[in-house]
Amino acid sequence: MTAVEVTEGVLVTTSAIDVTTSTIVVRGREVLLVDPAWVPSELVALADLLHARGLTVAAGFSTHAHHDHLLWHPRFGDAPRWASPRTAELAVSERAGLLENMGKGWPDGLLALFARVEALDAGRLPEPWGEVELVVHDGHAPGHTALWYPDRGVLLAGDMLSDIELPLPFGPDDLPAYLAGLDALAPYVARAQLLVPGHGHPTTDPLARLDADRRYLADVISRGESDDPRIGKPGMAENHAHLQRMVRETL
Ligand SMILES: [Zn+2]
Repeated sequence: MTAVEVTEGVLVTTSAIDVTTSTIVVRGREVLLVDPAWVPSELVALADLLHARGLTVAAGFSTHAHHDHLLWHPRFGDAPRWASPRTAELAVSERAGLLENMGKGWPDGLLALFARVEALDAGRLPEPWGEVELVVHDGHAPGHTALWYPDRGVLLAGDMLSDIELPLPFGPDDLPAYLAGLDALAPYVARAQLLVPGHGHPTTDPLARLDADRRYLADVISRGESDDPRIGKPGMAENHAHLQRMVRETL
C-alpha cells in the first residue's frame, strides 16, 4: 500500500475497493488515523506502513456510521477512537446491519474491534490535536463529521464532495439535511487549500467540488435531470434514479 503525502504531514492511502481513502495526520512520531479502510489485507498494509515510518497511532476518528468508515486493526493499538455522538450512537444501534454490509470472511479479531468508537461531544479534538475543528452535520449520514485543519488548510470531508460519487442523501432519505450539510461545509471549503473525500481523489480546488454537488442537486430538484458525469461512475446510476424518485415524491 502506498501513501501519498498530499500536503506536509497529511498522508492518504487508497483502497482497491470504491476508491476509499484513509487519512493519516502526522504530528511528530504520532498519528491521527481517520477512517482506516477497509479490507483486512489493507488494514495490515496500513499497519506495516506506519511501522516502517516509525509512526504510532495516537487516536482514530470515524467520520460517519457506515461500515467502511468504522474499521480498526489490533496493530493500530488501543488508542481512543472518536466519532460524533450521533455516529457513536448509530455504531451501537445499527451494529447488526453495519456488520452485514461488511460481507463475509472477516477475522473475529477485526469484527470485535469494528465500530467501537466513543462519542466526542466537542467542537474540536482533544489536545494535542486541538487545532482540529469538527464540522458535524446530517448530510449523507446523521452526525457526519468533517475534520478541518485551519493551520494546514485541509478539509477531510468524509463521504461528501467526491469526484467519483454523487451526493448520496440516503439512509435516511433526507435531501434538506444534505443541502444543510453542504451549507455547513461551505465556509470551510471556501478557505480550504486541500480537500480529501472519503471516496475519490484529493483536490486542490475544493470549491469546484462544492459547486458540482450543489449544481447536481439543484438540477435534479428543478428539472428532474442532470448531466453530471459522475452518473456514469460505478454504482451511481442507481443512486441517481433513487434521488430522482425521492425528489418526485417529496418535493
Ligand atoms: Zn458513507
